Formats: sequence, structure tokens, C-alpha cells
Amino acid sequence: MQNSQLLGPEGLLIGHRTIDEIGRHVLPVSPQNYEVWLTYMMHSSPDLKQAVDKLLATGKPLTGEDMEQLYERFFSTTHLSTQVMETGSRIAHEIADALDALKKAGATTERYGATLNVAADSLQSASIDGDALKRLINVLASATTEMSKQNSNLSHKLATSSQEMEKLRTSLRQARAEALTDALTGIANRKLFDETLRLRKEEADAEKTELSLMLCDIDHFKSFNDTWGHQTGDQVIRFVASALAKFALPDHLVARYGGEEFAVIMPRTSLKEAGRIADQIRSAIEAKRLVRRSTNETIGAVTVSFGGALYTPGETVGQIITRADECLYMSKRNGRNRVTLETALPPLASTHAA
Ligand code: GH3
Ligand code: MG
Ligand code: MG
Repeated sequence: MQNSQLLGPEGLLIGHRTIDEIGRHVLPVSPQNYEVWLTYMMHSSPDLKQAVDKLLATGKPLTGEDMEQLYERFFSTTHLSTQVMETGSRIAHEIADALDALKKAGATTERYGATLNVAADSLQSASIDGDALKRLINVLASATTEMSKQNSNLSHKLATSSQEMEKLRTSLRQARAEALTDALTGIANRKLFDETLRLRKEEADAEKTELSLMLCDIDHFKSFNDTWGHQTGDQVIRFVASALAKFALPDHLVARYGGEEFAVIMPRTSLKEAGRIADQIRSAIEAKRLVRRSTNETIGAVTVSFGGALYTPGETVGQIITRADECLYMSKRNGRNRVTLETALPPLASTHAA
């Protein structure tokens, strides 16, 4: 429902009114304020509408804090709907189009005004006895001047909201990127992993291509933390993330799956190829002699274990994750610092999953 309301001129109007309303309340046009206000204006959440109406009924102006609380309460802090992003981008385009049209119309109107003025001048000099006609032409000329003035006001207003929209779009993009990035390592976070795996599964179904999933876990990380401290532990997590990112192919997604666990989604990749890449990463990590940044002490090497599974058409994303996890567990049981692929799982292993 929300979608169709946001299409066409109606959507443009709602976008403008949303920005106007935010401005009227002297609030910044931030993505959060825009999302709260758009939802309010579109009546798409009765609860949110009720909460805003209650605040407005106090007669006091809304504060930034009110808006923050509304956003926290009604929108997940990590979620900025793609719909809002698309709306922002669409409205920006529409405004650009409208501006173009207005510029053309403005030029026409100005020419029209000049023509009328010339006509009025010549009528005055050519002693035509027609005061009424002259007056009429004068009126027409000033109406036209007024019209171009209004036009330029409108152009200016549209240009300003077009800039606002552009800023909004940029900050929405940044907010979304931040919401999907792991702060410690800079790689994808669990949310982006979940979204991407779902997308890649659909893609593999549609294109009938192979999709591999690798899970990776740092070996004996707890004792590493205990010996060297949490901060050095964080340094190692960053190092492992960068090693994964370095060897993964451009369309692979490397994500921090949990604390010291990672995942690589490998579309259009056979399990054998996935295993080869994982083993390359594993040996690169094993070969690296780590130095503790704070004290320059040599802390030796860390190792990682991998588990890899191939998507079976028709299964759920949960099922492929479970199988990769079983393989990871097998790597741990068999001594760590190794890659186990599901082809090595005993046939019964997947039946006692979860
Ligand atoms: P295994 O080889 O079986 O994986 O042993 P392990 O010690 O790595 O496994 P376990 O899951 O028991 O321990 C994981 C540890 O990772 C526990 C926790 O203290 C540590 N950890 C989780 N997240 C972070 C983090 O963000 N930073 C740091 N420094 N440590 C973390
Ligand atoms: Mg672990
Ligand atoms: Mg571990």
C-alpha cells in the first residue's frame, strides 16, 4: 500500500510535505526524522501516529530528543528501510525533472513578458485612442512580471529542496552502509550476511548455479585472549578479517558472523573451488608471525578452522549454515587448522543437526 502511495506526483508531494513539516518543526532533515515523519504523514503506523499526535497535542514544539525517542521506539536502530532510500532517490529525480521543466517554462514566460512590454510601448507611441486597451496591456504586462517572479521563487524553492533531497539521499546511503558494517573489522556484519545469503540462494535457484558457504573460526582464541588480553585479541580478529577479505573473490561476501567467527558466501563457486580458496586463506594466516602492536612483542601465529557446505536446491538457508557448521566442528575435532568440506561428512552427520 505504502509503495503505490509513493509513486508518481502524489509521492513527490508527500516527499515535499514531509520535508516542509520537518522544517516547520525546526528539526534537521535527517534520515531518521524523515523516516519518522514520512510514516506519520502516510498514516502507515497507527501506533506511531498516535504517539506523534499525543506529543503535538501538548502544544509544545517537538524536540530532537522527541524524534530520537520516536525513532528508537518505532524503528530498529540498525534498520533503515530500503523503501525510504528508494523514495529519497526517486523524489530527487522527480525534482530535477520538475526543475528542468520549470526552467524552460520560466524562459518562455520571460519572453512573453518582454513581448508584451514591447507591444505596450509601441501602442503608447502610436497615439491610438484606446486608454482602456493600454491599461489592459499594462495590467497584462505586470501580471506577467508577477508570474515570472513567482516562477523564480518556485524554482528557487525546488532547487533548495532538491539539495535537501540530495543530502538526505547521501546520509541515507551512509546510514545504511554503517548499519550493515561490523565496526571492529570494517567487513560485513551478521545482518548483511543474512540478507546476502538469502539473495544468493534465490539467485542460485533462478540461475541454477552453485553456491558455497564457508564458516571460519579462530582456534583456541579464548586462551589467546587470556594470555594477551582482549585488545590484542581484537587485533587478531581484524587480521583474520583482512586475510579473508584479501583472498575472497570480488563477488564473495566476507562477514563477521559472530565474535571470532566469520563466513564467506561464494556465489557461482563449486565446493572444491571454495575449499581451495579457504585453504589458501588458512595457510596465509598460519604463516603470518603476529606482533603485539602495543608492546612490539612477537606473539607467534594464530590458526583458523573452516567448514564448507554447498547449497542444495530447495533447502533453507538455515540448513546450509547447519551443514557448514557441522564441518567446522569436524575441523575442530580433527585437530583444528584445517578445512573440512561436507563431502567429508559421514552420511548420518546431518540427520542429528540442530
Ligand atoms: P576453539 O578452537 O574450539 O574455537 O576454541 P576457542 O577458545 O576459540 O572457542 P570459544 O568459542 O570457546 O571461545 C571464543 C572466544 O572468543 C570467547 C571470547 O572471549 C572471545 N571473543 C569473542 N568475541 C570477541 C571479541 O570481539 N574480541 C575479543 N578479543 N575476543 C572475543
Ligand atoms: Mg567460536
Ligand atoms: Mg574459536
